[in-house]
Amino acid sequence: RLFTGASLVRTNERTLAMIKPCTSGRAAEVIAEIEAAGFVVCAKKEHQMSVPQASEFYAEHDGKEFFKGLVDFMTSGPVVALLLEKPNAIKEWRALMGPTATSKAKEEAPDSLRAKYGTDNTKNATHGSDSFVSAAREAAFWFGGPVLAAEKTLAMIKPIVSE
Ligand code: GDP
Ligand code: MG
Repeated sequence: RLFTGASLVRTNERTLAMIKPCTSGRAAEVIAEIEAAGFVVCAKKEHQMSVPQASEFYAEHDGKEFFKGLVDFMTSGPVVALLLEKPNAIKEWRALMGPTATSKAKEEAPDSLRAKYGTDNTKNATHGSDSFVSAAREAAFWFGGPVLAAEKTLAMIKPIVSE
């Protein structure tokens, strides 16, 4: 049968996740939780970012009071970057992470990854792209090329065929 219309909403999407330096030592544990939540890990890379790399990745925050602390933190140890796939991956991954501030995550979303693994409002365990445009940029930053855009375009135009 050929499904169209609403079924397209359920096609896979990709997003870019990072397990930040405060938590990368527990990456196996975090990845097990990510997979248990239904995400497929399509690509994985461990790397200690340089100051220019972290500054470029977080360029949208350049000039804010927390920027230097953020770059210091993100370059303090290895990061595990993940390309995650699931229907609605961008929103679903943000939901699994919980609110940005660890304190808020602990109060409002105690089962979220940031509540469980975050230690303060900078060291909040994980990163997730906040939009499709961010996901495309961030996935290209870590994994090179339009790894996301090509998939999304295909997912949007390809009918879903099932038995
Ligand atoms: P995210 O998309 O949920 O990660 O949040 P943002 O894009 O707003 O911020 C990027 C990262 O900067 C956050 O994940 C935190 O690590 C850090 N950060 C953001 N806002 C604050 C803040 O007000 N104080 C501190 N200390 N860190 C912050
Ligand atoms: Mg952000």
